[in-house]
Amino acid sequence: MRTKHIEIVVAPKDPHYVGDGFRVHNFIPSGYRLDMERMDPFILLDYNSPFYFPPTDKPRGVSVHPHRGFETVTIAYQGKVAHHDSSGNSGVIGVGDVQWMTAASGILHKEYHEEKFSKEGGYFQMAQLWVNLPAKYKMSDPKYQGITNSQINKYQLAGDKGVIEIIAGNYKNVEGAASTFSPVNMFNARLEEGGKAEFTFPSTYNTALLVVDGEINVNGTQTVAENHFVLFENEGEDFSIEATKKSTVLILSGEPLNEPIAAQGPFVMNTRKEIVQAIKDYNLGKFGYLEE
Ligand code: MN
Repeated sequence: MRTKHIEIVVAPKDPHYVGDGFRVHNFIPSGYRLDMERMDPFILLDYNSPFYFPPTDKPRGVSVHPHRGFETVTIAYQGKVAHHDSSGNSGVIGVGDVQWMTAASGILHKEYHEEKFSKEGGYFQMAQLWVNLPAKYKMSDPKYQGITNSQINKYQLAGDKGVIEIIAGNYKNVEGAASTFSPVNMFNARLEEGGKAEFTFPSTYNTALLVVDGEINVNGTQTVAENHFVLFENEGEDFSIEATKKSTVLILSGEPLNEPIAAQGPFVMNTRKEIVQAIKDYNLGKFGYLEE
């Protein structure tokens, strides 16, 4: 097998707010080399690096809004987030948990800091990904997977040097917790200082990582700092990371859907016509109802 080399390292952009509760650095889609097509099926990545929110009686977040055509995946590193949607699903995820919400044919949802967390205030750190759906599943029924950390299978590295949490996909024959509609690998590598892990993915898969905490060395050649994103080339299969400090690294690798992408705001479809239909259906109230 051949080494998979780094294509680019992306520094975090200045943060912006999504609603009043998510202070995020956007990595995907972000123009040159990181548009939706390049990281397909990962069509959005927003990362809320650790940020202190002071106590409040009114939970911060994003009020009711629609989605159609893809899945939203929220990974909690610090803090707690609550979700409610128009298909009747709701849940709270906390440190180490993952919320995998399949919007598919359409939902309304709201995302807020959990009530007690809001009242007490605290550090908030989260990643949200949008995972595109294959055309044949874009209009399927919505679905919700609330995945607690204890439900996530883990691969222990030798010598207590860390653990790989398999959120989705497969790592050294350990299966991911989430069900997906196309081949998606999503792991949290939690490494002690000096901990090293190797990864192998097909060269055709779009592959990247985000250094959530700490600092790593990739392939023994390049140091990558906290909050930085690494896009790998679509050549070679194997890469390694070594933690130069205690680190948490989000690993992403997925088979590109290679279908046309038509995106507008919260809707991601295959054609412009389907976007027009989504807006029409939303305005007609076909995404259901959810109280503010
Ligand atoms: Mn949303």
